[in-house]
Amino acid sequence: ARQDYIRNFSIIAHIDHGKSTLADRLIESTGMLTKREMEQQVLDSMDLEKERGITIKLKAVRLIYQAQDGHEYTFNLIDTPGHVDFSYEVSRSMAACEGALLVVDATQGVEAQTLANVYLALDEDLEILPILNKIDLPSQRCDEVVQEIEDIIGLPAADAPRVSAKTGLNIDQVLEAIVRDIPAPNGDEDAPLKALIFDSNYDSYKGVICYVRIFDGQVKVGDTIQMMNTKKSFEVVEVGVNANGHIPLDQLRAGDVGYITASIKEVRDAQVGDTITLKNRPTDKPLKGYKKVSPMVYCGIYPAEGEEYTEIRDALEKLKVNDAALDFEAETSAALGFGFRCGFLGLLHMEIIQERLEREFDLNLITTTPSVIYHVMTTDHELLEIQNPSNLPDPSEIEYMEEPIVRAEIMTPTDYVGAIMELCQNRRGVFIDMQYLEETRAQITYDLPLNEVIYDFFDALKSKTRGYASFDYDLKGYQQSDLVKMDILINQQVVDAFSLIVHRDKAYERGRKICERLTDAIPRHQFAVPIQAAIGSKIIARETIRALRKDVLSKCYGGDISRKKKLLEKQKEGKKRMRSIGNVDIPQEAFLSVLKYD
Ligand code: GDP
Ligand code: MG
Repeated sequence: ARQDYIRNFSIIAHIDHGKSTLADRLIESTGMLTKREMEQQVLDSMDLEKERGITIKLKAVRLIYQAQDGHEYTFNLIDTPGHVDFSYEVSRSMAACEGALLVVDATQGVEAQTLANVYLALDEDLEILPILNKIDLPSQRCDEVVQEIEDIIGLPAADAPRVSAKTGLNIDQVLEAIVRDIPAPNGDEDAPLKALIFDSNYDSYKGVICYVRIFDGQVKVGDTIQMMNTKKSFEVVEVGVNANGHIPLDQLRAGDVGYITASIKEVRDAQVGDTITLKNRPTDKPLKGYKKVSPMVYCGIYPAEGEEYTEIRDALEKLKVNDAALDFEAETSAALGFGFRCGFLGLLHMEIIQERLEREFDLNLITTTPSVIYHVMTTDHELLEIQNPSNLPDPSEIEYMEEPIVRAEIMTPTDYVGAIMELCQNRRGVFIDMQYLEETRAQITYDLPLNEVIYDFFDALKSKTRGYASFDYDLKGYQQSDLVKMDILINQQVVDAFSLIVHRDKAYERGRKICERLTDAIPRHQFAVPIQAAIGSKIIARETIRALRKDVLSKCYGGDISRKKKLLEKQKEGKKRMRSIGNVDIPQEAFLSVLKYD
């Protein structure tokens, strides 16, 4: 049957283990795209992604493979994002597949995201094919890594292909293993349409492009489709597959992976995880697993001096069209004026959006201290969800507060176990478990308050383990906690953009550090500037930025004219990212410095 010659699979790996490089080799060796047509890293198309070395948006590509059995096979390779912030998208792209290639760097072995991805793949009942990569490197230790895969993951790996995605060595073994070991799809072409949206993005000509896996039935141009969870209907304009660009086809059928366009205006109307069916012949049940993605981390985004509020709104609207997880609404800050409260999946998502706003839209922004969502039970027994510390009710009206807790898995060489436990303990972590995976590697499990994870936890972990530890987390639930709102006063004025919610035991230390940092980040003025941290009316920390001495300025006069010019230019450059609050100039770095913990 037709479907016997289709293989749908994705590639999963810990970051940097070679997923993109292997994808490139598969694309190249199936001859779907010629070398010339193929830019380095076809799948990672966004510039930002290239620089960060991570795949943010997943896509599918169709390959044609002439197998040793003499048949021509259609491979649909579905790329998945590689970061915990995007784990829902990973799970939906896996749901579109029958199998997954598990790439393990033979010099590094199994790491946190290797395992996290394997668990996701097992949840979707995928056939998993381990592949050992980077065997061209002298430091490869294939035999040990095979043992690790068998012991830690429980997959037979003795016969796993040992390849170099870089040089192309043994890639043919991977291609044959895909044909041999990954099951063919077996949908019912005559049943009502049942298609999974595993990705969508916005194209200014075609509207939203839905990347789909057809499980049952067929879809063609002119059909009226319906999104089963959002209930919206659209008329199909184009269907096709992704090979070298979009290739329009007459129809897509059960087993196929391809795209559908239907003049859809926003990705919100074609959400990842939703099921597409035909309006006049619907399937009885949607595919399982649909979840509305919701933000976990919030921050305020405000214009730097001289920037336009409306330009930020236009830019956010454009990004939102293509990002169902990005949330924003207008808010006002006493210190910063008009701006936006934005919600993100996690800190990486937040950084990516900020960077895109600054680079693609050329905006200068001030971002306020990020916050998680707190649950607040008022004395009137009303449950509030608070994601902006400024909206916290007066302490006298609060019965109790709860904060989100994540379960974190950290994989590390055993040398760093002590340092990691100290770090987690410092961040109010609760030790759950530790297992030795082999003599030199351990997996440590902690429950951590998300509010402690969002302050440079990744950076701290990296620096304490020289980059050797890896980290993955899942939201576990909410827990009652002794939390207080801390305000920062600059020149006697509360700057709401700096306000944050902290655990009472941590308040003094955090307050002191923030004051010290602001003292470094804010330039000296003609007058002394006091910086204070306060809980309610109680000052818990204080620093002072001393006044500028007059003769510092006069040094620039008279002498070297080019030096004076440089200084002025530097000041102008700095000005762009300043906000004056009261009569104090606060540069953008000051807002960022609050994020740093240690
Ligand atoms: P991803 O994060 O899993 O997509 O990893 P990449 O494919 O981007 O690869 C990460 C780094 O490892 C890049 O610098 C690649 O050039 C390198 N790399 C990938 N495969 C191999 C390999 O087989 N041998 C060697 N020596 N380097 C490799
Ligand atoms: Mg990659």
